[in-house]
Amino acid sequence: MTFTYPSEAYPLMTKLESEEIECMLFDELTVLTDPFISNAIGGVKLKIRETDLPHATKILKSINFAGEKENPAKKKLQEGFAKGYVVRVEKYCPKCESAGIYRKRLSLSGLFKPKSYFCSDCGYTWEE
Ligand SMILES: [Zn+2]
Repeated sequence: MTFTYPSEAYPLMTKLESEEIECMLFDELTVLTDPFISNAIGGVKLKIRETDLPHATKILKSINFAGEKENPAKKKLQEGFAKGYVVRVEKYCPKCESAGIYRKRLSLSGLFKPKSYFCSDCGYTWEE
């Protein structure tokens, strides 16, 4: 699961780790190198295990997680979900190199067709 989040990710990460939820930060270096890039790439991405999500969501709610509103990347993600891109895959976006890639659920009739992928960061879709 990817949270898009500005540089306040550290306290959040500390909090989650104190609850024994493993976290990984992405794009941290980019943001540190050039803070102005942060907005362009949607901030720092905090990754947790899918299985930790319910637990993490509870924690985020309990600390009044403020990153929910007006988040363009999150909006993209929801657009993707609405179009059926719901399966997280280990791929990188050919446009922005984001790892937040989703594909549609496979149907039996779609097995031998190219799969279509969606980037939750820039909204790019492509088939492979
Ligand atoms: Zn992209």
